[in-house]
Amino acid sequence: EQLRREFTANVSHELKTPLHTIAGYAEMLASGMVQSDDVPKFSAQILSDAKRMTALVEDILRLSHLDEGAPGQERRQGIDLYALCERAVASLAEAARQRGIAISLTGSRQRVDGAEKLLAEIIFNLCDNAIKYNQENGHVAVSVTREGDRVVLTVQDMGIGIPPGETDRVFERFYRVDKSHSKEIGGTGLGLSIVKHAAAYHDAKIQLDSQLGRGTRVRVLFPLSQKEAQP
Ligand code: ADP
Repeated sequence: EQLRREFTANVSHELKTPLHTIAGYAEMLASGMVQSDDVPKFSAQILSDAKRMTALVEDILRLSHLDEGAPGQERRQGIDLYALCERAVASLAEAARQRGIAISLTGSRQRVDGAEKLLAEIIFNLCDNAIKYNQENGHVAVSVTREGDRVVLTVQDMGIGIPPGETDRVFERFYRVDKSHSKEIGGTGLGLSIVKHAAAYHDAKIQLDSQLGRGTRVRVLFPLSQKEAQP
């Protein structure tokens, strides 16, 4: 109950901030107070805050879907994790290129039993972070491998890293190491909590290793697909 109350308070706060900006700027535009040269600047700010609100609402809906245990009603099926990574890497290629970041995928086709949408979200959120928190001309290495009775997804970056005391906290809802940096680059503070939930749904373990200023490596260890695990 306490967590729920905190979450609601956080959601309200996070939504109110961009909403105030949108309302304020729209009011100024509507009243004709803005000089014509400044109209594009004000409109761009409104658009950027509207996009931010959309991203937040989408992430909040994803989390509440997970909270309600909705994916449990979907049938688990054998999913090729590598194919999902190919799709995520392709969809993020342009965002990476714009930041001068190279993204590579290695490994082999590996199946896990799961919900395709959730698995895609794990991969997307980890890759998105690896791009967002990277250094200029950095690199993101994604791989899918088999290690004993586990299928391992690894996303490694050469980015800013996470301070040692905060590697657990980044999985909490709305927790960010640097709030203004996260906001500036379009973060919602919910990505890793979605990853945590979605991994738990698949009985997968998450390992995060990070060195400040040098980079972060996240590994998600999935149980083998039932089919592969059978002798
Ligand atoms: P956000 O939407 O802010 O990226 P996340 O839940 O995905 O939210 O991540 C929480 C915080 O953890 C981020 O705000 C950032 O401070 C930190 N973080 C996540 N991934 C990385 C990474 N690969 N490198 C450095 N910091 C990271």
